Amino acid sequence: MLNFIEEIITHDIETGKHKTIITRFPPEPNGYLHIGHAKSICLNFGLGLEFHGKTNLRFDDTNPTKEDIEYVDSIKEDVKWLGFTWAEERYASDYFQKIYDLTVKLIKKGLAYIDDSTAEQIAAMKGTPILAGTDSPHRNRSIEENLRLFEEMKGGKHAEGALTLRAKIDMASPNMQMRDPLLYRIKFATHHQTGDKWCIYPMYDYAHPISDAIEHITHSLCTLEFEVHRPLYEWTIENLELFPSRQIEFARLNLTYTVMSKRKLLQLVQNKLVDGWDDPRMPTISGLRRRGYTASALREFASRIGIAKRENLIDVELLEFCLREDLNKTAHRLMAVLNPLKVVISGQLSVVGGQVQEENLSVQNFGLLLSTVEMENNPENEADGKRNIPFSNEIYIEREDFMEIPVKGYHRLVPGGYVRLKGAYIIRHEATLKDAEGNITEIHCKYIPESKSGNDQSGLKVKGVCHWVSIAHAVEAQCNLYDKLFTEKEPDSDKERPFTDFINPESLKILPKIYVEPSVKDLKPGTTVQFFRHGYFCVDKNSTSEHPVFNRTVTLKDLWKPGI
Ligand code: ATP
Ligand code: MG
Repeated sequence: MLNFIEEIITHDIETGKHKTIITRFPPEPNGYLHIGHAKSICLNFGLGLEFHGKTNLRFDDTNPTKEDIEYVDSIKEDVKWLGFTWAEERYASDYFQKIYDLTVKLIKKGLAYIDDSTAEQIAAMKGTPILAGTDSPHRNRSIEENLRLFEEMKGGKHAEGALTLRAKIDMASPNMQMRDPLLYRIKFATHHQTGDKWCIYPMYDYAHPISDAIEHITHSLCTLEFEVHRPLYEWTIENLELFPSRQIEFARLNLTYTVMSKRKLLQLVQNKLVDGWDDPRMPTISGLRRRGYTASALREFASRIGIAKRENLIDVELLEFCLREDLNKTAHRLMAVLNPLKVVISGQLSVVGGQVQEENLSVQNFGLLLSTVEMENNPENEADGKRNIPFSNEIYIEREDFMEIPVKGYHRLVPGGYVRLKGAYIIRHEATLKDAEGNITEIHCKYIPESKSGNDQSGLKVKGVCHWVSIAHAVEAQCNLYDKLFTEKEPDSDKERPFTDFINPESLKILPKIYVEPSVKDLKPGTTVQFFRHGYFCVDKNSTSEHPVFNRTVTLKDLWKPGI
């Protein structure tokens, strides 16, 4: 089924209004992109591909004091990483001269004037939604004077804030946006693209329709809050007699347990509440990437949430669901022990007719000092092959996998009990060693050679399976356990308290030393794997072979049921 934007485009093509379509993704380079932008990117580029049209990447860079080339670069990287290619890379600043020339035309038409009212005076004359505004005393300046002053503004002859250029529309319009909106302001700021060439900058609402029209954008998609700006968009295009780009609004993405505005995300970065824009807890595309999210999971998420005309709030669980689905297909399964308990395999047992025989072979005799076991890289994908994992008579298992006094329903190792070591052998508990305080320091077990996984001749049935690593071969790594950044579903919805009050103090737990099987040595930063029973983990960008670091991407538990 087509969404409402696809319907409009299909209609425009069928009726011959447009032969082909051009869309654009128009970020302001004033921060890093977040998952809401990913929705807009997937929508704009997706439509370009679907209708065999084009999509431009346009930087809406009309506010130099807030913008930076660092953001331009990160935006390009994120769009590429999401898997899209833009037809052209454009900047609103490419059009500053053209916008200036068009503005002269507008002034000549008597549709814009220079106002020397202060910002406060302009605000005071604006009126309210139910009360008409009042005309500025400068509203009826002559065209000649307006042209002269506008040129002087451009020439740097007036101070910042001294003069503005305003559209001459209607101070009584029921739409506040149409009450002589600001078109240009003076800013003595160095621009990341145009340097010091300009000291007047067009307002976003004015530059946007002109930029769209210059690029022959057929369908200009933006979020719902721009609906009230549409009349100004249309007014600009009509009065400047430009290509008839059409603005269409769709509902922005709102996600639970997060904030989604560059301004707020910047606040988190500046106040050092997170470790930069790409902190793995951030909803930024770069943060999600560092966390281990895949581009295909984000595209799938965008496709599942679809395009609506009404605001809604999406559960972050849906995002995690899309991620698990993807990683389940691609991530290699590895063994990592987060909370180690040493197990010494002190001997072997044999089985005759399903009965365990007691034998007392010394360590030297049982031949398990060093061997390997073979394990599938991903049971979901045979083509991923197998690998050998070193096994020895000293291994770590998780502390939680042994219980001296077991609780009801506990299926893992207990005194005298059996458990299978994943991909390896069945072992039986023999002895528990403790320190002076009574803490368990290690346990001793015997193994059953006939029970090797893949060729189990033992005839024994054991319920519990434990993952393990060989102590001598394990790689020591740091592990960052990430959780939700906020404790509230809608952290920015409280009128009394700032969203920063709801930061989850447990959102990062660092385990300085975990033990991982040696195959992780070859993993490159950015690779995501599954650690058995613990979840998916991504090799951090700062991970090295001397100091490997894993970020928990998402746990395995899946509470969310697909309903969308
Ligand atoms: P922010 O408030 O986070 O700064 P913005 O809308 O000001 O967002 P822009 O750089 O102007 O950021 O946005 C580029 C494009 O991405 C716009 O077309 C905008 O409508 C869209 N966009 C921004 N946030 C969302 C969102 N949460 N969901 C969908 N699209 C979004
Ligand atoms: Mg913005």
